[in-house]
Amino acid sequence: MLYVREHEKDEAAGGRRPHGSMVTELVPREVRRPMALNLMLMGPPGAGKGTQARRLARGFRLPHIATGDILREAVEAGSPLGRAAAAIMDAGRLVGDDIMIGIVRQRLERPDAATGFVLDGFPRTVPQAEALDAMLDRRNPLVVIDIAVDDADIVRRLSKRRVCTACGTIVGAAEANPPAVCPDCGGGLVQRRDDRESVVLERLAVYREQTAPLIDYYRNRPTFRSVDGSPGPDEVAAAVADAAHGRSVRRTA
Ligand code: AMP
Repeated sequence: MLYVREHEKDEAAGGRRPHGSMVTELVPREVRRPMALNLMLMGPPGAGKGTQARRLARGFRLPHIATGDILREAVEAGSPLGRAAAAIMDAGRLVGDDIMIGIVRQRLERPDAATGFVLDGFPRTVPQAEALDAMLDRRNPLVVIDIAVDDADIVRRLSKRRVCTACGTIVGAAEANPPAVCPDCGGGLVQRRDDRESVVLERLAVYREQTAPLIDYYRNRPTFRSVDGSPGPDEVAAAVADAAHGRSVRRTA
């Protein structure tokens, strides 16, 4: 059997090769073709959606569409979208549905999302979920993976979470002590502005009020899966990959 190294998969997918680290994980060459899979990860802030979505997207060779990342890039670029979103994000509230639906509609129309995608951070409200269903009308069904984590864990996790300024890797969310530099590329790590405790509490309240109802929205679909997000990232990754493949399905009560 032929194998490729992880970074070759990243490069072929248009991603950057991690530098300063040995990437030696070998994967079968036949997974180099993108999976025909429309995946959406949901869960409270700090559940590990970003980490898991990045891993799945790399493994399945699908675009990782993270609405939070799109907004943060817009804020950094100082675009009209960024200027409109910055204060809302800093307060831990949600950007308006119409704006978010427009962003995702445009993104899903790009050729790299034709085969499938990994959505991270969208939908976050019932109107967004309804709009997504309409967008996916002629596509494969949406596979929804809910990563469940106790509230008590979330503030603790987010206070430790750091993001690499060079490659975007998320570190420390589930670890006792986050490392000083990015384990993937050696880049500098920063705390997200909205990971400060006061903002986290607001984000949690917003999640409960506006996003948790999505569990009921999706729960009765055969493609809804829930995984326990409390173990370490590797264990959660295995459960999430199983759920994406339709194995080990465990529904929330
Ligand atoms: P995230 O990185 O997914 O935690 O998103 C960071 C912030 O971006 C959120 O707290 C919201 O302010 C905003 N945001 C991201 N995705 C959405 C969405 N689908 N709807 C509304 N606001 C969003």
